[in-house]
Amino acid sequence: MSGVILNNEKLKKYNWFNLGGSAKIFFKPKSINEIKKFLENNKDNGGIHILGAGSNTIFRDGGYDGTVIKLGNSFSYTKILSDGNIEVGAATLDKKVANFAMDNSLTGLEFLSCIPGSIGGAIVMNSGCYGHDMSKIVISFEALTFDGKLKSFKANEIDFFYRGSDFGENLIILSAKLKGHKANKEDIEKKQKNFLDLKKKSQPSNIKTCGSTFKNPNNKKAWELIKMSGCSNFSIGGARLSEHHCNFFLNDGRATSQDVESLIRKVRERVFLKTGVNLDLEIKIIGKK
Ligand SMILES: Cc1cc2nc3c(=O)[nH]c(=O)nc-3n(C[C@H](O)[C@H](O)[C@H](O)COP(=O)(O)OP(=O)(O)OC[C@H]3O[C@@H](n4cnc5c(N)ncnc54)[C@H](O)[C@@H]3O)c2cc1C
Repeated sequence: MSGVILNNEKLKKYNWFNLGGSAKIFFKPKSINEIKKFLENNKDNGGIHILGAGSNTIFRDGGYDGTVIKLGNSFSYTKILSDGNIEVGAATLDKKVANFAMDNSLTGLEFLSCIPGSIGGAIVMNSGCYGHDMSKIVISFEALTFDGKLKSFKANEIDFFYRGSDFGENLIILSAKLKGHKANKEDIEKKQKNFLDLKKKSQPSNIKTCGSTFKNPNNKKAWELIKMSGCSNFSIGGARLSEHHCNFFLNDGRATSQDVESLIRKVRERVFLKTGVNLDLEIKIIGKK
């Protein structure tokens, strides 16, 4: 059975903001060979954007004039390797990986239970919380270049930094090897629950958002700068800041991507005016206006 190729597919349902126009081509492959064939046959079809769970991505209202590739279910799996490490498919949800590590009494991956993305997205973003991030657990990952070559990257060849990594845009991450350390399962369960409780207290849930809009600047918190600059009540159209956590921007159900982008600009300008800090975006904005 082969994967799915759709034309003019609406992107709204594939991102947490629930926003954006359509992708000229939307490709959900089932195998590596299928991706290779697709890349070979679609060289002149505009750009390529790789989408994970869409929890850090805003698609613009004008959509994407190329191909959006979202790895299919066969890229979502977890297994224990003979050396005790974990192999995961890039489309596997982070939460599933955290639970799998817990079931196998491996500690160090509990933070993944708090991040609503996929492993591919987590590697690209070097996602993390509570002092943990991907740089501490990735041993290696396999990827396909846009010209169809399989490549393996070891952790020491990748420069992971705060909410990013340096391996370039033109790769499709397929799978990763992650490390954990043997520990008591009950302790892991407690740690994971503690992280989830902390998250619940500090961040809103059940809203259309992509989490933190801006990165924290050196030794500062983006939400504090936003608050002290008097932006908490800002809104444009259906886009506003969460009352619970003002670095979380949200779509109240009526927003367009343009509303969110305009609000981002307004907040950034006000924070710069008031504090002299130029906030850097954490979320990715993709497509045409
Ligand atoms: C409620 C909420 C809470 C959040 N909390 C946190 C948090 O605590 N810590 C944190 O770090 N982040 C947090 N985030 C942000 C987000 O969940 C992370 O950045 C997450 O890792 C993104 O994963 P994704 O699969 O959704 O990526 P996407 O949004 O789909 O993509 C993000 C980037 O990764 C690339 N990408 C995705 N998959 C692949 C792949 N297979 N190959 C190559 N490139 C790929 C995309 O091209 C894009 O550049 C939160 C978001 C929400 C909505």
